[in-house]
Amino acid sequence: MIWLDWQRVEKIIKEEKPKTVIIVGPDGIIDVLLDLGEKLESMGIKSYISGDPSYGSCDLQINKINVTGADLIFNVGHTIGIENIGNVRFIDFQYMFNDEDINKIADLIMNYITDNKLIGKIGLYTISNYYFAYLKLLEKLKGRVDIVEPRKYETLLQGQVLGCNFYSAFVPEVKFNFFLGESLFHAIGLQLSSEKETFIVDPHMKIIYSVRNEANKYLRASFARIAMANSAEKIGIIIGEKEGQVNLQKANFLSREFRKFGIKTFNIIMNEIIPEKVNKFQNLDAFIETACPRIPMNVEGFKKPLLSYPEALALIKLKKKIPVDNPYRGAIWF
Ligand code: SF4
Repeated sequence: MIWLDWQRVEKIIKEEKPKTVIIVGPDGIIDVLLDLGEKLESMGIKSYISGDPSYGSCDLQINKINVTGADLIFNVGHTIGIENIGNVRFIDFQYMFNDEDINKIADLIMNYITDNKLIGKIGLYTISNYYFAYLKLLEKLKGRVDIVEPRKYETLLQGQVLGCNFYSAFVPEVKFNFFLGESLFHAIGLQLSSEKETFIVDPHMKIIYSVRNEANKYLRASFARIAMANSAEKIGIIIGEKEGQVNLQKANFLSREFRKFGIKTFNIIMNEIIPEKVNKFQNLDAFIETACPRIPMNVEGFKKPLLSYPEALALIKLKKKIPVDNPYRGAIWF
């Protein structure tokens, strides 16, 4: 079952009286966005549903206000620890699980720990769309397994991870990470950043499995990209335009560093960093993007090696003859 915080939408409408809104969210919940748009239209509020996916709270699409003259953007499904940024209103969206489901998931975790003889403290983390289930599960497990209180990053919810921020899971005494949600993307990030064995707990399928092997595959691919980029003589440094991904300082730093090795660098700017756009720069040997660290890991089709910022730092180490290991070790990747 899914739940959208309609009460918050109504409160915003009552207090701020928008005439036009833009509705933004990830591709996976397009129908939820359409439903919201239909409801708002029936209340006399002009609604534009974004056809561009929003990948996170870093991807707000504020430029759509300039084009449409809208008063507000409803960003659905990327709840964080703050409710508004400028004209953007974050609207919570949850996958709901009843008590019976939560009990089953708690039993699943407890049995998994026993059957696999996992000895040591565990940490439990999630993403925003499972937060209600997460809080219930956390309570259920307390006192029944050796579970550690998660940390809270300043703008995130306690225990929440993003695709590039695993701060909540950086609790030294934790030995095993459990991630509630179906997203392999986040669980692999958790494994790579913490280097602790991470298990995905899929609440829909009611299964648990380790993501260690999958994470190792990502790591090998990352090393291969770095090694290939090491012979590049001309590197394109791509700056992303999305609001939370603009990193001019990092791009300038990388340009300066690579020029010290006699490498020509070219600043490139674009919104969506996709193979169709990057592959046009045929005369460049490699690319570094300073926008989202997950793009090289999760988007296929780039013809030349494309590195993320942590991978670019690893490449600088390689050039300085410093041994390179996991570029993704660490709580925060930006
Ligand atoms: S992983 Fe990428 S899309 Fe997700 S929050 Fe980080 S920068 Fe944004």
